[in-house]
This record gives sequence, C-alpha cells and structure tokens, in this order.
Amino acid sequence: MSDTLTVYGWTATDLRWRQQAACIGFVDTFFPDRPNRHTRAAAIRICDSCPVVTECDDYATEAGEKMGVWGGKNWTKLSRL
Ligand code: SF4
Repeated sequence: MSDTLTVYGWTATDLRWRQQAACIGFVDTFFPDRPNRHTRAAAIRICDSCPVVTECDDYATEAGEKMGVWGGKNWTKLSRL
C-alpha cells in the first residue's frame, strides 16, 4: 500500500487499523441521511465491540471531526460543548 496519499496527514499505513473496524459494512448506520439520537445510539453500540476504538478516537481527535460517531463517541454532541 502506498504512503504517498494522506488523509488529514495520516498515511495508508497509519490508517491500517481501519481494516479491523467493526463499522465496515454499516454505512447507513454511521452516515444516515437523517442522523438522530437513534441512529447515533445504534452506531455507538457497534463501536462498543470494535477492536480499534482507541485508534479511531485518536484519528477523530487529530482530524478535528465535528460530526458523526467516531471511537464510540457522538462527536456532533461533543463539538457543541
Ligand atoms: S470505533 Fe466505531 S467508528 Fe471507529 S472504527 Fe470502530 S466501529 Fe468504526
């Protein structure tokens, strides 16, 4: 895998943890057309079983995510604090 391209400064090697993500295949749950507390709760339940929660949380923090569920947290809610 090439490390030429980056996402928020993270290389493909840095992002290899995503291959273990429990949310793979749950696009509609994590990126619903109309997010609400029910869709966020469903996403967080998936995160509860994810082996890469720490890596995901670190990524979301460094990338400055402001919306959605990352690392088992509702970042939309956190960004309003
Ligand atoms: S912690 Fe949640 S959002 Fe992050 S990779 Fe795992 S399942 Fe996906």
